[in-house]
Amino acid sequence: MSACICYWYLISIIIFVKIYKDAMKTITHQPFLEEVVGYLNRSHRPNTALVIVPNQLSMEYCGFVCHKAKWQAGCTTLHQLMRSHSKLTLLSTWALLRRLYASVGPISQEPFEQFARWGRILLEDFNAIDSYLIDGVALFESLYKQRTREARCHQGPLDAFKKVRSLPLWKEKESMGFWEQLPLLYASFREGLIREGKGYEGLCYSMAQPLPEIRNQALVFVGFNRLMPVEAEFIKQCQAMASTAFFWDTDPHYLDNLVNIAGHYLRQHREKKWFQSGFSPATYFNDPGKKVFLTEVPTSVAQVQAVVAALAEKTDEGKPRFLPSQTAIVVSGSDLLIPLFDQLADRSIPLHCRVSYPFHATVIYCIVERLVQLWESFVAGQEAIYTHMAAVWVLWDPFAAETAQGAAMRPPLDGRMLRSLFDPWLHQEGLLAYLQAGLTYMYGHFIETDRLFWVVNKTALRHLLSYIEGLIAEMADCSIAFFLHGLKSSNMPFHIDHPATGLYIIDVAESYNLDFENVFFLGMNEGCFPKRTHQDSFLPYDLCYSFGLPLADKVAEQQTAYGFYRLLQRAQNIYGYYVQKNHLDAAGEISRLWTQLTFDSQLNIITAHHSLQLLDRPIAPIVIQKSDAVMQLLNRFLAASSRLTPAALIAYLSCPLQFYFRYVLQLKQKAKGDSEMVQLGTLFHDVMARLYQPFVDMQVDTSRVMQLKGQVHSKIEEAMAASHTPIGAPLLLRALLEKLVTAMLDLDGAEAPFTLLGVEVAMQQSMALDGERKVWLGGVVDRIDRRHHVIRMIDYKTGLSNGKVGPIASLFDPTKIQKNKAIFQLFFYAWLFHSLHGADLHQSIMPYLIHIRELFLKDYTPGIFQSDHGTHYHRIEDMQAYLQPFETGLKALLLELFNPVLPFVQTADLTICAYCPYVRICQRD
Ligand code: SF4
Repeated sequence: MSACICYWYLISIIIFVKIYKDAMKTITHQPFLEEVVGYLNRSHRPNTALVIVPNQLSMEYCGFVCHKAKWQAGCTTLHQLMRSHSKLTLLSTWALLRRLYASVGPISQEPFEQFARWGRILLEDFNAIDSYLIDGVALFESLYKQRTREARCHQGPLDAFKKVRSLPLWKEKESMGFWEQLPLLYASFREGLIREGKGYEGLCYSMAQPLPEIRNQALVFVGFNRLMPVEAEFIKQCQAMASTAFFWDTDPHYLDNLVNIAGHYLRQHREKKWFQSGFSPATYFNDPGKKVFLTEVPTSVAQVQAVVAALAEKTDEGKPRFLPSQTAIVVSGSDLLIPLFDQLADRSIPLHCRVSYPFHATVIYCIVERLVQLWESFVAGQEAIYTHMAAVWVLWDPFAAETAQGAAMRPPLDGRMLRSLFDPWLHQEGLLAYLQAGLTYMYGHFIETDRLFWVVNKTALRHLLSYIEGLIAEMADCSIAFFLHGLKSSNMPFHIDHPATGLYIIDVAESYNLDFENVFFLGMNEGCFPKRTHQDSFLPYDLCYSFGLPLADKVAEQQTAYGFYRLLQRAQNIYGYYVQKNHLDAAGEISRLWTQLTFDSQLNIITAHHSLQLLDRPIAPIVIQKSDAVMQLLNRFLAASSRLTPAALIAYLSCPLQFYFRYVLQLKQKAKGDSEMVQLGTLFHDVMARLYQPFVDMQVDTSRVMQLKGQVHSKIEEAMAASHTPIGAPLLLRALLEKLVTAMLDLDGAEAPFTLLGVEVAMQQSMALDGERKVWLGGVVDRIDRRHHVIRMIDYKTGLSNGKVGPIASLFDPTKIQKNKAIFQLFFYAWLFHSLHGADLHQSIMPYLIHIRELFLKDYTPGIFQSDHGTHYHRIEDMQAYLQPFETGLKALLLELFNPVLPFVQTADLTICAYCPYVRICQRD
C-alpha cells in the first residue's frame, strides 16, 4: 500500500470513528436497539435475519445501529412486510373515494364533492373495521337496528350525524334508507375491490398471509406496543411458519404497575405464551443519576426558544452541552412544529425528523390561495388579475432560483410582462390544469438549498403537486371551495434524513425504539400532551365498544403514555416545558403524564421558571421597503374596486407592518382575542339590521319600536342560523343578545320618532393625493337616521371603547389610535357622508357612538364628547367644525402611506403585538 493510500485510509478511519463517536445516541445506558443487535450477534443469528420494527423512523434508527454494529440484517416495517405479503394493492384515497361514490351515489344522490366530505369518514370506518377483524356486515346491521329504534323513540335520525358536521342533512326516509343499505354497501364495496386486486389499508392487511418463502427467513420483531388484531394475526401466522424472535422495549417500572397506562398493551402481550420470552427484567427507569427538570414558561413559543437556547450552550471546555446526535425534541401533535422549525431555521444544526407538518402554515399555501384568486379574477375577466399576479410574484420571489431560467421569474413588474409569465398557465383547461402548470414551473425553478425554511416550502410544493395529481387522476376538474377545503386541513409528510448525526424531532407517539441521552419534552400541558383527538365516525361509542373497536382518544392516550415513559427509560437529562396560565394562552395545567411521573417514580424532579428575558436570540426588525412590487400591490387602492376602510387606516396607524400584512399582502389570519365577544358584536349588528331594514326611508315612532321588540327573538334565531362561523356558546349568546338588543330598542323608543335613512350603509369616495393619483376610501356605517333635523351617524359598539376626543390631530397620533379607534371610525364616516352629500345638506351631522353595554347605566348618554379646555366635556352635536381639520389629517396620512420612500415598519408598542395575528411572524410573542 503506498504512503498516500495509507494516509487516506488513516484519515477515513479517523473520520469514521469521529462520526460514530459523536453519533452515540446514549452514553450512560446502551440504546435498546443496540442491545437487541448485540444479543442477536452474540447468539449467532444469521446475518440474513429480517428485523421488523413498528415504523419508518424506527427503521432509520435501526439501519444506523445495524450499520454501526456491522450487522448485515435487513430491516423493514411491519406494514411494509404485510403489504408485500398481501394479495391486494393499496389504492390512493381519491381512487377509493371514486369507487365508493360509484356504489353510494344512487343512495345519496349528491355530487361527488359533497359526497367526498363524508365519504372519507365512511372509508375510515371501513378501514378500522377490517383492521380490527370485525364482522362489518353484522356491525352495520346493528347500527341500522339502533337507528330504527331511535327513530321509533322519536329521536331524530339526524342525531346520529351530530358528530359529523360535514354530513348532508338528509330527510328521515332517505337517511333511514342509507342506514339500511350500509351492510350491503360495505360488503359489495369490499368484494368489488378484492375482485380487482385492490384495497384500502385495513383490507390489504386483512388479506395478508405470509408467503411460503418466509420459511427461509429468521424474523425478529422489535419494539412493538399496540398491535391491531390484523397485525397480531399476521405475526401469529409468521410464527407458525418461520423462525421468530420478539423483543419488547419496556421497563418493569410501568409494565408491572397495573394502573400505569403506558404498559397497557404490553401487559396484554405478556399474557401470550409466544411473546413472553421477549420481555427483559432489566430496569433503568429510576436510575438515581438521571436529572429531570420541569420548567414553567410564559408562552408556547418561549419553550421552543428555551430549548433552542439550551442547544447552543457550551461546557467549560467549549464543547456543546447537548450534542445534536444524542438529543431529541419531543412533541405531541404538530402544533409546536411551526415555532420549532421557525426557531431552528437559522441554526446550522443537522436534523433528523419524519413528522406531519400543517400545510396551511407554509408560504406555499399562501401562494396557492393567491393563484386561486388569480384564476377566479381571470375567469371573471376582472382588473384585479394584475394585483393577484403581483402578489404571487412577491410571495414566490424568495424561492426563485438565481439561474438564467430563474431570472425569468423576475421580470419588470409591468402588466405586459406579468401577463406573459402567467398566460401559459391561465390558458390551461380548468383550475387543476392551470395550477399544475404554474406550480410545476415553480418546482422546476425552486432554489437549491438545504436551509430549513426552503426545505419545508419545497416539501409543501411537492405535497401540493401530488395532491393536484391525485385529484386530476380521478376527476377532470373541481370547484375552488372543494380544492381549498381539502388542502387547508391537510398535513404534509416532512422528512429530513440525518439519522446518525442529526438532532431528532419526534412525535412522542411515533418514538418507538429510539433512545437518547438528552430529551426535551415540549408542550407538557394537559390537553396538549397527549394531544386531544377527535375522529369523526358513523359508528357510535356503544357499538364500537360492544364490537371491540377502540376509541381514538383512548388509543392516543395509551400510545402517548408509552412513548413518554419509554423515552424516559435510558435518557439521563430530561427537560419538560409547560406553559403557565396567562391572558393570551389559557392552557396552564401540567400534563397528567408528568403529574403521574412525580408520584409513581423515584426521580428527583427539579422545577424551574423560565422568563422571556433569558432568551439570547436577537430578533431582527422587519422593514418592508416600498419596492415596485409592493407599490403595485398598494396601488390597488387607487382603483374604485378597492377602498381603504377606517379599519385599514387604523391598522396602519397602529402598526404599518400589520397594515402591510393584512391589506397589502392580504394574509388572512384569525384575529386574536375573545371569539365569543367578536361573535356577539357581529350578531348584534346583524339582528339590528334585520329589525330595521324594512323601515328604511320611513318614520319610526315609539309604537313601531314596541312592535320590533316582539320580533327580537325570531331575528336572533335568523341571525344565528345565517352565521358563517359555528356558534361557541349558543345559549349564553342568545340570552346576552336578547338583553342587549332590547336595551338598544328601549333607547330608540325613548328617542323616537326618527326617520330611518339607512342601515349598513356602504359609502365610497375618492381623495386626490396629488395631480395624478387619487385614493379610494370607503366603509359601511351601522345606521343613519334623522332626528329633529340632525343626521345621526350611528355606530354600535358592543365592546369597550372611548367616546372622549382631544384635539382632532390626536386622531392621527399612532400612540393614541388604540384609544381613539371608535372616534376615528365615526369621524371618517361623517367626513365620507359630508363629502358625498354636503352640497345638498342643510342639516347638522352628528357622530352618534352607542356603547351598548353602557345602556344599562343610569346616566348614560350616547355620542362623542370633547373637552371644553377643562374637565367638562360637551357632546359634539354637529361635525361641521371638525371636518376640515379631519380631512387635513387624513390627507397627510394618505400621503405618508403612499410615499414610496417610507417603508412599512413595526410598531414600538408591544401591547398592540399582543393581539396581533401576525405576532408569530414578528416573533414578538
Ligand atoms: S406583531 Fe407587532 S410589529 Fe408585528 S405586525 Fe403585529 S403589531 Fe406589527
